[in-house]
Amino acid sequence: MLQISGKDADVIIIGGGLFGCAIAYYYTRNNPGKKILVLERNELCNAATSRAAALITKIRAKKHFIPLSIETYKVIPELEKLFGESMHVQYAGVLHIASSQERVTDLDALMQTASEFNEPADYITASQASQLSPWLKTDEIEKAGFIPGEAYCDPYLLGTFFGRSAVKQGAIIKQGLEVFNLLADKNTVTGVECSEGKLYADKIIIASGAWAPVLAAQAGIGLPMAPVRSQYWITERHDMFPGNAPIVILPDAQAYARPESGSLLFGIREKRSFYASPGKIPADISNFSFSPDRGMHDLSEVIENLARFFPAVYDIGLKYYIAGFSAYTPDNNLSMGIPAGVNNLLLATGCVGAGISVCGGVGLAFAELAAGKPNPFDFSHFSIERFGKIDAFSEEWLERCAAARGMKRSG
Ligand SMILES: Cc1cc2nc3c(=O)[nH]c(=O)nc-3n(C[C@H](O)[C@H](O)[C@H](O)COP(=O)(O)OP(=O)(O)OC[C@H]3O[C@@H](n4cnc5c(N)ncnc54)[C@H](O)[C@@H]3O)c2cc1C
Repeated sequence: MLQISGKDADVIIIGGGLFGCAIAYYYTRNNPGKKILVLERNELCNAATSRAAALITKIRAKKHFIPLSIETYKVIPELEKLFGESMHVQYAGVLHIASSQERVTDLDALMQTASEFNEPADYITASQASQLSPWLKTDEIEKAGFIPGEAYCDPYLLGTFFGRSAVKQGAIIKQGLEVFNLLADKNTVTGVECSEGKLYADKIIIASGAWAPVLAAQAGIGLPMAPVRSQYWITERHDMFPGNAPIVILPDAQAYARPESGSLLFGIREKRSFYASPGKIPADISNFSFSPDRGMHDLSEVIENLARFFPAVYDIGLKYYIAGFSAYTPDNNLSMGIPAGVNNLLLATGCVGAGISVCGGVGLAFAELAAGKPNPFDFSHFSIERFGKIDAFSEEWLERCAAARGMKRSG
């Protein structure tokens, strides 16, 4: 282990998921010569990251997310250039379907936002929508908008490109190394206690996803987020799912879909989202049962609504079921930044199921903050103190966060 005058690194990141890897990339890129350590108890990107549907949503109702996602789109070619390898990002575009007056109003606002951010976007007819996505039943479409520049990706590749690039630039990534405790001197966090002993650094960043509230609590912080399940299915292959079709967002059905190697990957917002207390999730979720019936009950509760747009859902075989924990908050805003009253601790947490989209901005923001520089992004909506004092482990809080996921209409 490297030692720099009594400390082991300038920065220690707890968690080698997408956020941890992205921060390590930007930090090593912008601060050559500085030492950063990423501590991951399993393998890189084993948890939420590798399970994501990986829509890289850029234009969304919450405008303050958009600059973070723009950074993600900027960094992808940068990472590809560094290795001379493609990440195979699919720039297939996003088709937004509105089938009620309320959703038409939302779509008009979204198209206006696209124009504010100079993102090409056009209204298209129902028949054009059907040409783009042959599986889509279009009778009920009132308005459709197409944003051709948006993409989806392989989230594991994205995370590991960040990790590999960080290592190339000097980061040390330790896998199989678990952090048990934060070390502190009064209100100042000084290091971590982990399976290799005690490690010290000037700045400690918690980027431990669904588990983050457990470590945050050790610093007296009630971290406003909760582990809430996201789930989706992948159908069997069929001609109606061409590989170059766009992502489709169906807010009236609270569903989204995208192609996946000749199949369709689709997700829903179930009536009641499953959640868990952060302290009760096993460290390795590979064999964790997110649903005893692979989400079939949840799907059956909303299938009628989904079938208005995807009638084949009744007949097509569902080959794969994927689920994982994202960190949700009651207002569906990220929960991250520098907590008040605790020195040298940063929290890159509370991804609200949007971590793939915002990882570029999150990575850059925390790299700059850890280096003592100003945050290039506006994080005022993400403040850790915005809900006042909360008990991140209480049933009431967990339910509040899970209910917020049920309100989501975007991808
Ligand atoms: C089913 C599903 C679909 C999704 N779809 C999308 C999507 O379409 N678009 C989008 O933008 N986002 C999506 N997301 C969300 C996205 O996956 C997350 O926002 C993102 O992966 C969060 O990354 P992370 O690094 O915060 O968390 P994680 O990837 O969970 O990483 C946290 C890491 O910390 C490690 N860790 C925890 N505690 C410790 C400890 N004490 N010591 C050492 N290591 C520790 C864990 O092992 C883990 O590797 C989806 C998520 C799920 C589950």
